[in-house]
Amino acid sequence: MAELTQPSSAKATAGEMEKLVSLCKRRGFVFPSSEIYGGLAGIYDYGHYGTLLKNNIRDAWWSAMVQYRDDVVGLDSAIFMHPKTWVASGHVGGFNDPQVDCRKCKSRFRADHILEEFGVNIDDKTPVEELNVHLNKLREEKKLKCANCGSTDLTEAKVFSLMVKSNLGSPTDALTEENVVYLRPETCGGIYLEYKNTVDSTRVKLPFGIAQVGKAFRNEIVARQFVFRTREFEQMEMQYFLHPDMMKEKYEMWKETRHKWYLEYGISAEDIRWYQHEKLAHYASEAYDVEYNFKSLGGFKEVEGVHARGNWDLSQHSKFSGVDLSYLDEKTGERFIPHIMETSVGLARLFLMFLDKAFVEEEVKEGETRTVLKLDKRLAPIKVAIFPLMKNKPELVEKARNIFDDLKMKFMCEFDDNGNVGKRYRRQDEIGTPFCVTVDFDTLEDSAVTVRDRDTMQQERIQIYDLESYISNKLNA
Ligand code: ATP
Repeated sequence: MAELTQPSSAKATAGEMEKLVSLCKRRGFVFPSSEIYGGLAGIYDYGHYGTLLKNNIRDAWWSAMVQYRDDVVGLDSAIFMHPKTWVASGHVGGFNDPQVDCRKCKSRFRADHILEEFGVNIDDKTPVEELNVHLNKLREEKKLKCANCGSTDLTEAKVFSLMVKSNLGSPTDALTEENVVYLRPETCGGIYLEYKNTVDSTRVKLPFGIAQVGKAFRNEIVARQFVFRTREFEQMEMQYFLHPDMMKEKYEMWKETRHKWYLEYGISAEDIRWYQHEKLAHYASEAYDVEYNFKSLGGFKEVEGVHARGNWDLSQHSKFSGVDLSYLDEKTGERFIPHIMETSVGLARLFLMFLDKAFVEEEVKEGETRTVLKLDKRLAPIKVAIFPLMKNKPELVEKARNIFDDLKMKFMCEFDDNGNVGKRYRRQDEIGTPFCVTVDFDTLEDSAVTVRDRDTMQQERIQIYDLESYISNKLNA
């Protein structure tokens, strides 16, 4: 799919994105899916280091949202859900994006994105008729052109469903109303469906949250910008159930909690901001997005939504299923349908955000530059790389292997004896490894190793028996 070319800022950073994409491929973070068959648009695979980084980000979110709290419990619900789920939620028939096609070269664009790039004030609640009014104005002013071929022959905007259909049962059955199922477009649907079982099976009392991480699928009109917008992606969502009187207080609490999380993992305050939605869904009382200033995407883009959703979700599922989803407050005797406050973030968007933040090219000495991922040490895929100074000295290799065997039980480690030490440092810099440990001839005499710090490139001699606590302390500093 072609991309629009209007914003000069996006052009200016195309190089940044290319560098990230290239590093991700070269170093085994992210690959285009099904590449040997020519690829599949908007779908990516994560290689060894990408999987480790993604899992670390997921675990950091999970610890903050579930492990370190006593008011949020976990869930892992199925991707397939009863077809009525998405009718009740309004997704069937209502989960659409506006699409514009170029009649000449068949490129496809999102109408709202075209208008945003021209600075027109619209959002995802703006009806398609209103979008067409704006598009027609641009057309009259001769500003509306296909970014791919320059043709002015673009269609009107029309709605395009983002729901991905599948079918269950015999593979030879035709798709009928009974067997059509959707791949979930968001993970929170499963949370609403398991709200009652969670209340009945755990000792949670309002206010409380249910968190889950899982795959979601959207037939995005234009899947582009690397892993920022894909057709298969992971969401990390938390739905917080509460009495409406508590909404204001808890909404502020969650906004602050989520904001702090970004700062804690090294995102600077000036690189994130809140975007407030002006047009809200009829059931919502407040909606903010966290936006991060992507160097690779030319500016601030949404990474997370924090939304006050009223009692719409549980009311709808109660109505469509016929099951009472009200909550009885034992203290006050009041029975009501809980209201919901949600935090929703895409794991791949965080992945891209942390890479965007960490990617640095710096001069190490005259005429020599290095590429380094200055990731928060806790998120780094590999924490320690262990090298014997020389590959062909069995006594060094054996010692280094012993250290690797000890440390690998505590940290994600890598043993590397390939090439000269300088080259090994560069390789580890590119995947963001905070510590490199080298075993040399002195080690055989003094039982100490050289530890080199990724960011400062300073080297220290550390006794082998101190190594584990030295690394632990630095990782958690
Ligand atoms: P956008 O406006 O960018 O399409 P959205 O407002 O539709 O996003 P939500 O439905 O609120 O997004 O989803 C919550 C989060 O899920 C988003 O903030 C984003 O991090 C992530 N997300 C949504 N769609 C995608 C996608 N196609 N690829 C990757 N992540 C996504």
